[in-house]
Amino acid sequence: MSMDMTYFEEMEAKIPTGGVRTRFAPSPTGYMHVGNLRTALYTYLIARHAGGTFILRIEDTDQGRLVEGATDVIYKTMAECGLTHDEGPDIGGPVAPYIQSQRRDTYKKYAELLIHRGHAYRCFCKDGEGDHVNDLGDGLTVKRHICGCGLLTQEDIQARLDAGESYVIRQRMPFEGTTTFHDAIYGDITVKNEQLEDQILLKTDGLPTYNFANVIDDHLMGITHVVRGSEYLSSAPKYNLLYEGFGWQVPTYVHCSPVMRDQHNKMSKRHGDPSYEDLKAQGFLTEAILNYVALLGWSPRGDIAEEEVFSLEELVKVFDTAGISKSPAIFDIEKLTHFNALYLRAMGAEDFAKLAEPYIRQSVKNPAIDAARVAGLLQARCEKLTEIPEKVDFFDALPDYERDLFVNKKAKTTLEVSAEMLNAAISALEALPEWTEERVHGALINLAEQLGVKNATLMWPVRIAAAGKTVTPGGAVEICAILGREETVRRLRLGLEKVGA
Ligand code: GLU
Repeated sequence: MSMDMTYFEEMEAKIPTGGVRTRFAPSPTGYMHVGNLRTALYTYLIARHAGGTFILRIEDTDQGRLVEGATDVIYKTMAECGLTHDEGPDIGGPVAPYIQSQRRDTYKKYAELLIHRGHAYRCFCKDGEGDHVNDLGDGLTVKRHICGCGLLTQEDIQARLDAGESYVIRQRMPFEGTTTFHDAIYGDITVKNEQLEDQILLKTDGLPTYNFANVIDDHLMGITHVVRGSEYLSSAPKYNLLYEGFGWQVPTYVHCSPVMRDQHNKMSKRHGDPSYEDLKAQGFLTEAILNYVALLGWSPRGDIAEEEVFSLEELVKVFDTAGISKSPAIFDIEKLTHFNALYLRAMGAEDFAKLAEPYIRQSVKNPAIDAARVAGLLQARCEKLTEIPEKVDFFDALPDYERDLFVNKKAKTTLEVSAEMLNAAISALEALPEWTEERVHGALINLAEQLGVKNATLMWPVRIAAAGKTVTPGGAVEICAILGREETVRRLRLGLEKVGA
């Protein structure tokens, strides 16, 4: 039977050629997991490194699993991370639409074409009919669908269609032989065809399965490198047979190893592992997250093998698939925290202050306390922005502290010594002609010298009285300078009362 090929010729003519084209193809079924973000990043980097095109495609054919708002999270995350796409549902492109639910017609036509070419058939089996589990020995089982539908004559098929019977379209797998495909990370992989199921390509509702839609779209969108998680590795032979069935060129496969929470388990939202949004809410910077995620399964080689800090622009320059590892990567929040601290420290003081201010203001409401100066104390001592409110709350209100805090062996302070130091400090600070950090510093250093004590013997009680805690960002001088004279003196007097003088 002949088939009108005009549609297919027109579709083929639209396929962009020349240059690397990659796609990130998320299903809007939840939030952006760390593994998803890594796939998006690697996909972006492979395209940009080659001066190619990066495409966003939304895979929403599994309507039952869609989660409201998930597509917005994808757009927002990609934009925040700077993973800008050149073609996609929101901006269009030469091979639009880029949302699978809007491409139903195309999949249907290509499924018919595959039937025509002998690599697929209509299957009229009802639920579960014809499904077998084959035992291959050694505990290995495979699902196979075995039925007679693939052998029906054209007349039989027509009669069933006329009777309004519902059907799916299945891929016709060869029973014998092997299929080999190449993956850029995992090398050559060969499977026996007898292990491949006659998988469903088009469901009874006319919607494609992911397994069919991804092949059709990757071909029609001119995708040269298919980057995705290794959970798809076992399906790749089936995809290969689809490409072969259509007579299309197979793209380069880049399957990435899973991101694990520990040696045995993949990261999962269900087990409370953080998504990109969660990490942001926990106070991590986008740049630090991206940098760390880039290194989850990829390592720089050659001259830069020892380096670990990379901006997105630098990654575009140095990223190569040869550096991607086959071994699963373990997500380590400590390591991410380390990156975050590096990024916070490397920022300009003003940028840091801008970022830190809302966190400072969560606990420091008093407008007389200069948030930018508080930020200056924090920058070198902060690993995550969310640590800030608790670190600086004493600026707003002196905590109710125990007088034992004044006793410190190293600083050589007892309650008596502290009383003496606080008394002297109050007089010296009250007498200052002007309240600047330099003046406060000069006055206290001079005072220690006059009293013949180590600086620490004076600074410890002043800091305890000023902050009411032993661990503070900044020392006594910096804290007093920010508090102002009146509040400093008030707090030192309270301290004096506490030590019982
Ligand atoms: N929609 C699939 C997923 O979200 C994409 C797999 C692929 O990139 O081919 O897992």
